[in-house]
Amino acid sequence: MDVLKDYYQLFINGKYEDSSSGEFFETHNPATGEVLARVAKAAKADVDKAVAAAREAFENGKWSKFTAARRARVLNKIADIMRSKLPDLIRLEVLNSGKTVDAAKGQINQAIEDFEFYAAAALTLRGDTNPVPNGFFNYTVKEPVGVCGQIIPWNYPLMMAAWKVAPALAAGCTIVLKPASFTPITAYVLADICHEAGVPEGVVNVITGSGSEIGPYMTEHPGIDKIAFTGETETGKDIMSRASATLKRVTLELGGKSPSIVFDDCDLEGAVDGSLYGIFYNTGQSCEARSRLFVHEKIYDQFMEKFVEKAKRLRVGDPFAEGTHMGAVISAAHEQVIDSYVKLAVEEGAEVLFGGKRPEGPEFEKGHWYMPTIIGNVTNDMRVAQEEIFGPVVVVIKFSDEKDVIRQANDSIFGLGSAVWTRDHGKAHRVAAAIRAGIVMVNSPISAFPGTPFGGYKQSGFGRELSLETLNLYTETKSVVSYTGSRPLNLFGL
Ligand code: NAP
Ligand code: MG
Repeated sequence: MDVLKDYYQLFINGKYEDSSSGEFFETHNPATGEVLARVAKAAKADVDKAVAAAREAFENGKWSKFTAARRARVLNKIADIMRSKLPDLIRLEVLNSGKTVDAAKGQINQAIEDFEFYAAAALTLRGDTNPVPNGFFNYTVKEPVGVCGQIIPWNYPLMMAAWKVAPALAAGCTIVLKPASFTPITAYVLADICHEAGVPEGVVNVITGSGSEIGPYMTEHPGIDKIAFTGETETGKDIMSRASATLKRVTLELGGKSPSIVFDDCDLEGAVDGSLYGIFYNTGQSCEARSRLFVHEKIYDQFMEKFVEKAKRLRVGDPFAEGTHMGAVISAAHEQVIDSYVKLAVEEGAEVLFGGKRPEGPEFEKGHWYMPTIIGNVTNDMRVAQEEIFGPVVVVIKFSDEKDVIRQANDSIFGLGSAVWTRDHGKAHRVAAAIRAGIVMVNSPISAFPGTPFGGYKQSGFGRELSLETLNLYTETKSVVSYTGSRPLNLFGL
């Protein structure tokens, strides 16, 4: 039997059910445009139901009052089951997202390790005893924040779900997870796995439906204590303002336009390979894609020759075929957005050095595609250098001076990722210190390992995922102050 189901229902209180309206939508394979399955479309009444289930599960303590060791055991079990289903998970993720098997494999393996990381992290959650005057005693307790609404994007469907669900479970929270409408399938498989691993009913609920309809409803919902969101900066702003009415806790992982600075003393081959991976991995649909490439003028020509030559060798196509480097883009509308940015670049006076269009050939007749695209002759003030394209498009800017390139790198509303390529240790860390971004990669094309804080400065959001400090963001600190003196206190002196 194929692991792909033809209909995915909402997962509320441990049971699958239709939307209260009976409505559903279709989910597609971006590489072929074909319909994969129907998916229940939650209405506001279903949000209420999911929130009520999560609230009841939180209040009855079935999960939140488990010992940390028991929660850790369940998280490890989730990881074990995921590992046993790895080929199925990869297949479903590739079908629904259009990403390559290699990319899906790496991301899902990381998702598994995220559960293992937070299983261990759950055991570290602890309070303090604090210095207080004689006759007093003070300790703090870390308590779960409560019911968490978790809203995630389509670019890393299962990995983003793991980044949200694992720390929330580790902290003892309950969850209403809303995956992106483009990629709902693996979130439902994760719900199944959580259930199988022993997560009590009502602790993890998954609902699907239009983000613009149920997203604001979740954000304003009085039954939700925290919203954890990953997605576009504009959506994040909407969430932040709506969450203020109930003073919800909010963490936001938003967009980026991450600079990569290639100095003239770098290992050229390493910088070329790393810069290609830094932008074209996941078809450029990564929030920390290094999409603004600053190359020192002394090596500009040499670097660009190799960079373009290797970009030509990237294999775009069937995400299931071995050796494919770049899969599909998520939708027809997104393909149009990417293309319109490339046209805008030309209007702004930049030059397309490679790509700039849909690839040609019979295998690209269906589905949504864009070639790896390199744009030169760019200045940092152009819109293509300032706005997130979220596709396989890199803009290249020539620079000559360290201080000035730092100024330009920081001249952005975003501050998520960044990279520095140099053999000079001092320079690498001088630049790392000066860059206003949550992540700096030194001579490295990758950065996201379980345990490394992931998140942004400025309009790339706030809060960190993937790390120990994430756990704190799913807790409240309770301070308990006790008077231990032998005579009662009579502070009014009455
Ligand atoms: P998006 O359009 O903001 O959507 C993200 C999620 O929010 C989806 O589940 C969406 O539902 C839902 N949503 C839409 N409108 C909403 C609203 N008004 N209130 C609440 N939820 C709402 O983002 P995307 O296009 O899926 O993802 C791409 C973006 O994510 C990029 O900007 C990228 O940089 C960012 N991203 C950031 C990180 C990070 O860690 N910083 C990681 C990955 C991606 P529907 O799907 O139903 O519309
Ligand atoms: Mg979007």
